[in-house]
Amino acid sequence: KPRVRFAPSPTGYLHIGGARTALFNWLYARHNGGTFVLRIEDTDKERSTDENTAAILEGLRWLGLDWDEGPDAGGPHTPYFQSQRGDLYRGYIQRLLDEGKAYPCYCTAEELEAKKAAAQAEKRQYRYDRTCRDRTDRPDLPHTVRLKVPLTGTTGFDDLVYGRIEVANENLQDWIIARTDGSPIYNFVVVIDDIEMGINLVMRGEDGLNNTQPQLTLYQALGVTPPRFAHLPFILGQDRSKLSKRHGPVSVTKYRDEGFLPEAMVNFLARIGWSHGDQELFTRDELIEKFSVEAVGNTAGVFPADKLVWINHERIKSMAPSDLASRVAPFVASAELPELPREKLEEVCRLQQERAKTLVELVDISRYFFVRVQPEEKAAAKFLTGPSLDYLREAREAIASAAGLDEGNLGPAFTALAEKHAVGLGKIAQPLRVALTGGTASPGIYDVIGLLGREESLARIDAVLP
Ligand code: GLU
Repeated sequence: KPRVRFAPSPTGYLHIGGARTALFNWLYARHNGGTFVLRIEDTDKERSTDENTAAILEGLRWLGLDWDEGPDAGGPHTPYFQSQRGDLYRGYIQRLLDEGKAYPCYCTAEELEAKKAAAQAEKRQYRYDRTCRDRTDRPDLPHTVRLKVPLTGTTGFDDLVYGRIEVANENLQDWIIARTDGSPIYNFVVVIDDIEMGINLVMRGEDGLNNTQPQLTLYQALGVTPPRFAHLPFILGQDRSKLSKRHGPVSVTKYRDEGFLPEAMVNFLARIGWSHGDQELFTRDELIEKFSVEAVGNTAGVFPADKLVWINHERIKSMAPSDLASRVAPFVASAELPELPREKLEEVCRLQQERAKTLVELVDISRYFFVRVQPEEKAAAKFLTGPSLDYLREAREAIASAAGLDEGNLGPAFTALAEKHAVGLGKIAQPLRVALTGGTASPGIYDVIGLLGREESLARIDAVLP
């Protein structure tokens, strides 16, 4: 049974790269009927915070990436926080020491520094010279613990994205698995947890690539078959430099706040470095059905921010107005606009979904449905003056006396007005539009009047008539 994990370090919020790694693991688990584990790698006490952990969980939840085991979900391997798994790690370190697969290293930091400096002066790559490897005594002195890495042979693996990667063991060093205070180092706990949690595919960012060889030597020392590995290429900005704040928000929840739909975000993230023919739009179910690690490319994926906007717009356009209304409602509240009756909000969504690229934009271009707005100066100067005011007065009468407010009822009345004054229908509609919406661009005038209702429409016209 496939078991994969997302193992964020809570030293920051959930960023784009992390979210993509989480998504690919989640898709892999869901596609293969496997288990998606969430493990919090909070061993860096200084930089890990509970707020960051909460923000990461929030980001994953927003994206709909539910985990089968992990914080809140529980599972057979609790706790899923590395900071609470110290005893387990210490046990493994002791076992490796007892089996002679690791050894205490008494070299002091100063001694190691001097060796490093010497290597640098001679322009050789520094590697720990294994001074303590064959020491048989174990004095009670401060020491780190190092893993005994084989001196000959090679360590290699078949990365599912990068292919075969191999190093000669003589190029590896006896790496430190525990610090002088006894605390295990990062590369060590990752392996212990992946073993304990039965992870059989490790899918992580390209930055994990350099950790894999040393990690493999630990699997070997413990006599455990390593999982398979798939490293995901970095995400680059459109200028092909490493993705950073310059290319847009890096935090996933920032996109939520800007009015992006989680399904658009998921669609977008999936397409960074993964493809399925030339298909661009995927539902969540389609992604689950079509995802495969084999289709992940080994070149850096570019983050096309404009593509995200496009996907989001496509999603908004294709949503049922009733669903869209549920998504828009929180943005109405955060824009501090009054609530509309549900059917009215749905109607706003139906009228605006073609032109709104984000939920924030949808609310923003719809403000006049919620509150009265001052006519824009330029629009007023052009349309609330001269004969336009006469048209507006007469249009007001038509609205006041119409049997209904739809095009069937108002259309003929407005057309008659236009004919009477020998002007186009636009000359009648524009002053009305400015009076009702404050500007010159809006959905069809009959839709606007219908949605505002008779009383409100008349009141808005009266407010602009001299
Ligand atoms: N905790 C690591 C990180 O957040 C990931 C480790 C791994 O996936 O092996 O970068």
